[in-house]
Amino acid sequence: MAAENTDPVVVLGGGLAGLTVALRLADAGRKVVMLAKRQLSEGSSQYAQGGIAAVLDEDDSVESHVEDTLRAGAGLCNEDSVRFVVEESANCIEWLIDQGVQFTRKGKEEHDGQKAELSPYHLTREGGHSVRRVIHADDATGRAVIRTLEARARTHANIETLEQHIAVDIITSAKLGLPGANRCVGLYALSKASGHVVTLAASTLVLATGGASKVYLYTSNPDTSTGDGVAMAWRAGCRVSNMEFVQFHPTCLYHPEAKSFLLSEALRGEGALLRLPDGSRFMPSHDDRAELAPRDIVARAIDYEMKRGGYDSVYLDISDKPAKFIREHFPNITERCADLGFDLTSKPVPVVPAAHYTCGGVLTDLSGRTDVAGLYAVGEVSSTGLHGANRLASNSLLECLTFAMAASARILKVDSIGTAGVELPDWDESQVTDADEQIVVTHNWDELRRTMWDYVGIVRTNKRLERASHRVRLLQSEIREYYSNFRIDNNLIELRNLVTVADLIIRSALDRKESRGLHYTLDYPETLPGEQAKDTVLVPDNFIDPQS
Ligand SMILES: Cc1cc2nc3c(=O)[nH]c(=O)nc-3n(C[C@H](O)[C@H](O)[C@H](O)COP(=O)(O)OP(=O)(O)OC[C@H]3O[C@@H](n4cnc5c(N)ncnc54)[C@H](O)[C@@H]3O)c2cc1C
Repeated sequence: MAAENTDPVVVLGGGLAGLTVALRLADAGRKVVMLAKRQLSEGSSQYAQGGIAAVLDEDDSVESHVEDTLRAGAGLCNEDSVRFVVEESANCIEWLIDQGVQFTRKGKEEHDGQKAELSPYHLTREGGHSVRRVIHADDATGRAVIRTLEARARTHANIETLEQHIAVDIITSAKLGLPGANRCVGLYALSKASGHVVTLAASTLVLATGGASKVYLYTSNPDTSTGDGVAMAWRAGCRVSNMEFVQFHPTCLYHPEAKSFLLSEALRGEGALLRLPDGSRFMPSHDDRAELAPRDIVARAIDYEMKRGGYDSVYLDISDKPAKFIREHFPNITERCADLGFDLTSKPVPVVPAAHYTCGGVLTDLSGRTDVAGLYAVGEVSSTGLHGANRLASNSLLECLTFAMAASARILKVDSIGTAGVELPDWDESQVTDADEQIVVTHNWDELRRTMWDYVGIVRTNKRLERASHRVRLLQSEIREYYSNFRIDNNLIELRNLVTVADLIIRSALDRKESRGLHYTLDYPETLPGEQAKDTVLVPDNFIDPQS
């Protein structure tokens, strides 16, 4: 089918990154098509609780936020990226407020007797931040932000939404054998309603597909976080960076019916303590900052204590605070805990760590550009240099905003190459049949996630990584064969992407001969000196250097 040169920008994903790119472009008059594999906004963004880090208070400064971010990143942040994000933070929050997001305001008692403030909003302090700088909407920030932006996107004349469409693969000029630099020309996406793959022309495509935490058995993320964008970009010829840095959130509620319910870091910011089953505290013996240590240190301490004591969980205790304070500050968490039979106001609740955030991803520049011309990556799917070896809490929503704005500004500035004259081949289903049974997919899915949890988790060793690598390779070849023989569906597409992401994480982890930030290995427990600190960059076989 010959593609027309109507040239809407295709945005994959309706989380904070995708919605921000789409609205910025659409408000500037560009046509946008947004694809989402479920309902538009089903993704991590809407479950974010804590908030968005930004320099808003007169006691805060860009330098201080930059310093905290660099410290968390353990020597691997790109300082230009950090500075860019922090400097843009106040503008981004202003934009959200202009869109109508209702952030929590300071109470009367907090205003009284204070110096002139830049911000009338209540700010919380989270682990790793040296001051209060996290703006929030109660304890359900993501929901407030996403509802507001989604409502605008759904009624915007320049935005078309294609929900229940899962992107399968990016079509590049190199794949079609066209000469010149590798560029994006289109996309295959499976319509879940029809069961058929549609072909979309796209000379500008924005990956805003979120993270890959579903590659682990226990995760705080929704089912959408299957690393589709990373796997698609890798297959399209993009370099992928720092995939070994997976952040485990220390405190997910331990309950079979709450498989991904997170107890926000802000609880510890407001004084919650971690306790062993016998009631004793353990964080002070792991780090001077105790419960306010960065989350990788807290997660590792919990992992250590659980393994040492053979416990199923540890406990988070904020019951020393007045019940009124807890209910006012954490209304959603208190309610959800109560639904599951826990009274946060009077007793400690059981918690375990779970995979939470993918620091690495598709390598981009400060405008979100990848190695393939016309292909951008924004939000958790990307590796922008902001997080380095560890993400500072509440910097990720901020990264979605700043890079979405930068990418949309770049897209508006450059002339689109268009796809006129490019023949996009239709998806070929002639050689495949309907799968006779789903068990292969579900079995491989479970095996993959358990393997990653057991061997590529919070504490790693060479032996465990090699074991995982071996298993993942076997799974990869089985899935490849299944993929070539049977008609694709949502689960198979996600599994194929997850196994690719698992392989990228393991290869990156094996490449790093030290412990740094979120990557901790018993074989190399030391961190290499600063001058030897370097990113892990994996290069696909079909990489074409955009500079050449
Ligand atoms: C429980 C929880 C709490 C958090 N709390 C905070 C916090 O307080 N502060 C903070 O800064 N960060 C927080 N984070 C992290 C933050 O929410 C995420 O990093 C951020 O929301 C990612 O946004 P995104 O737009 O990149 O991706 P997402 O919001 O995950 O959106 C991804 C979108 O892409 C779509 N998609 C994926 N693959 C495909 C495909 N193949 N085809 C079509 N569509 C696809 C999905 O359906 C979805 O619409 C939290 C995360 C979780 C899970």
